Amino acid sequence: MFRVAIRAMSSSVKEFDYLVIGGGSGGIASARRAREFNVSVGLVESGRLGGTCVNVGCVPKKVMYNCSLHAEFIRDHADYGFDVTLNKFDWKVIKKSRDEYIKRLNGLYESGLSGSKVELIRGKAAFDEEGNVVVDGQKYRGKKTLIAVGGYPTIPDIPGAEHGIDSDGFFELEDLPSKTVVVGAGYIAVELAGMLANLGSDTHLVIRYDKVLRNFEKMLSDELTAAIEEESNPLTLHKRTLVTSVEKHENGLLTVTTNTGVIENVKTLIWAIGRTPHTKSLNLDKVGVKTTDSGYIVVDEYQNTSNPDILSVGDDTGKFELTPVAIAAGRRLSHRLFNGETENRLKYENIATVVFSHPLLGTVGLTEEEAVKRYGKDEVTLYKSRFNPMYYAVTKHKEKQAMKIVCVGKEERVVGVHIFGFAADEMLQGFAVAVQMGATKAQFDATVAIHPTSAEELVTMRGGVKPE
Ligand SMILES: Cc1cc2nc3c(=O)[nH]c(=O)nc-3n(C[C@H](O)[C@H](O)[C@H](O)COP(=O)(O)OP(=O)(O)OC[C@H]3O[C@@H](n4cnc5c(N)ncnc54)[C@H](O)[C@@H]3O)c2cc1C
Repeated sequence: MFRVAIRAMSSSVKEFDYLVIGGGSGGIASARRAREFNVSVGLVESGRLGGTCVNVGCVPKKVMYNCSLHAEFIRDHADYGFDVTLNKFDWKVIKKSRDEYIKRLNGLYESGLSGSKVELIRGKAAFDEEGNVVVDGQKYRGKKTLIAVGGYPTIPDIPGAEHGIDSDGFFELEDLPSKTVVVGAGYIAVELAGMLANLGSDTHLVIRYDKVLRNFEKMLSDELTAAIEEESNPLTLHKRTLVTSVEKHENGLLTVTTNTGVIENVKTLIWAIGRTPHTKSLNLDKVGVKTTDSGYIVVDEYQNTSNPDILSVGDDTGKFELTPVAIAAGRRLSHRLFNGETENRLKYENIATVVFSHPLLGTVGLTEEEAVKRYGKDEVTLYKSRFNPMYYAVTKHKEKQAMKIVCVGKEERVVGVHIFGFAADEMLQGFAVAVQMGATKAQFDATVAIHPTSAEELVTMRGGVKPE
């Protein structure tokens, strides 16, 4: 009788060589790459395919950034000789085309999975005591299981916090809010606040300390904070400010009370204070997967968790929470697990990233502080430049550009490139290749400049200085 019961149970478990939990950037990339090595792959997704990046992250964010760029160009039209009258900006137009674009991407992800013959399992996964992955009562098992469940925005525990929205809610807004408060000093906060302010919402950015992007290279953090404080910047910055409560009135408007004052008549409050990994409901304790106190999955440099058959990549590991990082880690993991490439792994260094703030910025490699800590002050040489980009030479509105190159050793190997301002986004990727290849400052200088661009400054900087 007992034997029969066991057999019945095991026959109801569907098995795969590789079972992936999470159909976002990391999960999809790893699942599809694994299929190239002819293993059977199942992928569980509880929401929309593509995860955070496609649905409520990089992609719709960049569409809105592009949208807000138009506002900046319109500001400068007259200075360039265009006599243009702006009648109105209609948020609904861009929201509709943005949503349609994302729907198309969701479809492409689904057809990509089926084209690769990854079995898509719709529903929310959790582990049971026997180590199976259960989705809507059906049990699954992978010889190897990947957890790539990402995270969700954190909401603070203060009275009235529920009257605010988060970055997911930002993408659901049907209209440009008349007045917005964005709380947070990280990249998501400065990006959302910058877009809203440039599109015409009376936007207030509330930060806990004195600067935005405090974890970035100091030059970038200083420059962006100063730029936001410029009178010509439409964003209002509230430094050393903590929201203590939120009250919603009958007319739908909010009063946001802080330790430094009260912000009245707020149409939309956006919490952008950090993200929490989606790990709590997975029952990781049942399969011996260790997490940190904040719920991040503990992995080694090969993405192994504390359970030898369970691996993890992406935001839920808390390391460089960026789409290309999740993708690269996921793909390399599949090469290691299923193609015998035992040493293949993502090395978490020289990861380039751009913040689509107004003005925007880009960074790759070590900050000055990190270089001094790693190599000692005497070994570090810095090249710095601050200038007016040519675009603003003929406009009333001015924005600075600043650059810093961090070099180490006598040969002045470039270990960090940091760019603030105009076109930093499209400038950085090529320099990231150079940093990754171990280029020296002399090799930068041996490259003939492209004139007239802002980027040429990076191959013409002179007068290296020591850190202070
Ligand atoms: C507003 C915003 C802007 C961003 N901008 C950028 C940017 O410009 N550039 C950049 O590189 N990165 C950006 N990011 C970060 C980027 O989106 C993430 O780093 C990336 O999506 C992480 O991929 P992931 O696979 O780890 O997780 P995700 O993409 O979040 O995917 C996880 C998936 O797992 C699913 N899931 C969760 N729990 C379960 C469960 N129990 N069962 C089944 N499925 C489950 C979720 O529904 C989700 O689809 C941004 C993020 C935000 C929020």
